[in-house]
Amino acid sequence: MPLCHGKDLEGQCLDGARGVPYTEKKREMKIDLHIHSKEGSDGHWSLAEIFAEGAEKRRINLISITDHDSISAQGQAIELAKAYGMMYITGVELNVTFSHPAHKGGKAVSLDCLGYQFDIDNTRLVKKLDALRDYRKRRATLILENLNRAFAEQGLPAFTAADLDAIEAGVDGAIGRPHIATYMVNKGIVSDQQEAFDRYLVACDVPKMPLSLQEASELIRGAGGKLILAHPNDPNGTSLVSLTSAVQDQLQIIHDAMMAYIDGVECWHSRHDVGTIVAYETFARSAGLIISGGSDCHQHPVLMGEVDVPDYVGEHFLKGVHAAMRGAP
Ligand SMILES: [Zn+2]
Repeated sequence: MPLCHGKDLEGQCLDGARGVPYTEKKREMKIDLHIHSKEGSDGHWSLAEIFAEGAEKRRINLISITDHDSISAQGQAIELAKAYGMMYITGVELNVTFSHPAHKGGKAVSLDCLGYQFDIDNTRLVKKLDALRDYRKRRATLILENLNRAFAEQGLPAFTAADLDAIEAGVDGAIGRPHIATYMVNKGIVSDQQEAFDRYLVACDVPKMPLSLQEASELIRGAGGKLILAHPNDPNGTSLVSLTSAVQDQLQIIHDAMMAYIDGVECWHSRHDVGTIVAYETFARSAGLIISGGSDCHQHPVLMGEVDVPDYVGEHFLKGVHAAMRGAP
């Protein structure tokens, strides 16, 4: 029997090693609201593979595909969810630029937000995502120019327009640094993706098109959706850890500077530990915020459905946070 390292708000014990509770009480729903696809961004599997695995093997009932800056896969995802009898909410992951005067000298950092339950045909949202996507291509060109400068110093042959075409040919969704890293591995320039980043891609990076938290909020809410701060204490990702690793300080930042723009926080995530889940859950409840959760599965490894998201998360989305809280024990 695993040890109980702490309890969540439903009184479930949490396994301290991975931040995933071992389940004493049976869940009514299996929820995963953070999955990436090959069609929309940087997932490794197609939507058809994701839904087959998610429905048949992992028995997920409530699902959302949340590709980076792309909602191109949403229509097909809605159809597949229907075909498999799953509940679906529309999703997208947006990278935002954020700064706080009390941290890192007010320097801007990159955070991720999740948009949910928006209208996929909203013109303003579609146009802005197109612009972000076009800029991603421009950014890839600029990164290759920086790489060529580094290659010249090392006597390596330069990338050409044909290389950019070849990289783009391997992209189903939005082009990003991981695609360039994969191409460098295939070309034998580096032995793996990590080496590509460590030796070249960190130094040769070009900033993404800036989108402020306020803009992201207006965009998603303007399309009838809700904006959720993604994995706020993710040690490896774009998160508030870039400003401070102290959870209480992160909560203070949200309280001071984000409440006007966000509707919720992603408490349950594959890289959140027990302390993070408990602190964020308690904070979100007291602040009346939606509580969200998902694996952030890129199918490498396949994590979907493995974060044990509580049933009330589904209720927050399906019934509304306040109705769900009134009904909470
Ligand atoms: Zn993600």
